[in-house]
Amino acid sequence: MSQVCDFCCIAQPVVTYACEDFKMEESSIESQRLYGKDLGSRGYWAACSQCAGFIDAGAYEALAKYVLSLNFHAKELGPERLRQATESLHRHFREFHRHRKPGPF
Ligand SMILES: [Zn+2]
Repeated sequence: MSQVCDFCCIAQPVVTYACEDFKMEESSIESQRLYGKDLGSRGYWAACSQCAGFIDAGAYEALAKYVLSLNFHAKELGPERLRQATESLHRHFREFHRHRKPGPF
């Protein structure tokens, strides 16, 4: 399992979700910089208990907002760029949901 949650990139994961590999066709510069990695996916996603709560509820937009609320640099973005970053993360998480295999494991 990863060292940190693949969603918030901060907390220690407690659960993994199996997911098909996928690539995001577009991701905003903001979200890439904030997230520190290419948006896309390979194999399993690890989630901390907080993020897993959003995932199990299918609340991906709330999850995107939550993740950005934890990100120190996100506070420096203006409202418009923060909105774009939130949308981009939300799209990313929806793709995860679409490619997710039955689980958690
Ligand atoms: Zn998390």
